[in-house]
Amino acid sequence: MTTALISHPAAADHLMPPGHPEQVARHAAVMRALDGMDLMRVEAVEAGDAALLRCHPQRYLDRLTAASPEDGFAQLDADTWLSPGTLRAARLAVGGAVQGVDLVMAGEADNAFVAMRPPGHHAERETPMGFCLFGTVAIAAKHALEHHGLERVAVVDFDVHHGNGTQDLLWDEARALFVSTHQSPLWPGTGASSERGAHDTIVNRVLPPGSDGAALRAAMEGVLPRLRDFAPELVLISAGFDAHADDPLAQLEWDEGDFVWITRELMKLARESAGGRVVSCLEGGYDLDALGASAAAHVATLMEGA
Ligand SMILES: [Zn+2]
Repeated sequence: MTTALISHPAAADHLMPPGHPEQVARHAAVMRALDGMDLMRVEAVEAGDAALLRCHPQRYLDRLTAASPEDGFAQLDADTWLSPGTLRAARLAVGGAVQGVDLVMAGEADNAFVAMRPPGHHAERETPMGFCLFGTVAIAAKHALEHHGLERVAVVDFDVHHGNGTQDLLWDEARALFVSTHQSPLWPGTGASSERGAHDTIVNRVLPPGSDGAALRAAMEGVLPRLRDFAPELVLISAGFDAHADDPLAQLEWDEGDFVWITRELMKLARESAGGRVVSCLEGGYDLDALGASAAAHVATLMEGA
């Protein structure tokens, strides 16, 4: 039994304009940091339309396909771009998350980390934004509910930005409890604690700029009882590492030890009701050294419980 690392070299084929923070080197930094770890290495396979259609309409897929450039870049919004390799990389990211769910549900791995880009938690039903095209973790949650027949899935997003896309895609989903901790004020500006979903299954916890690991722990300790009461059969993580003190896009003050702490808490939760099943998907993290060190600390912690 083991921790699976799901990835694909085509993560590097998703190009962004020079100087963009969501750069190819992010993937290399993560993979280099995980090099030599005793992981079950799995090559991601592309998600088909059926998986994407769990959260996005056909006309959205058609629109992205039509916008995909043959060379150079196509700009979708202020931050979000397509290169010729982007859609394949994004489908591999979704496919990897779905594979992670399948592996832990089959008992072939205890838990899994999906190291792919682009990230996914800002993509809404018909709106790409914030470097994201498909709602990777929300699609994985829907796959667990619809394909595996689970009744309760938790999605915990500790990226420094609010997971507005995941919230949008799971707004009406009573079988998924979505918990997001994020800095506020900060882009995208959503994620107030008053945003609770159609079935009161969305929990937003905002942290002011400058919040350190103690503030994170206090916020999470406030929502862990809610997660325990929900008794998820699977725990999904939107693992963004941009709450790190060194990150250039935000102003929180977490360090590697804080990512270890939150990972351990979520693994405890998973052991209580989910047979230990955790699937974690890479989201943000834009300081390459902090990203590598934080991802390595997170995955090493996943391995402790495997
Ligand atoms: Zn982020």
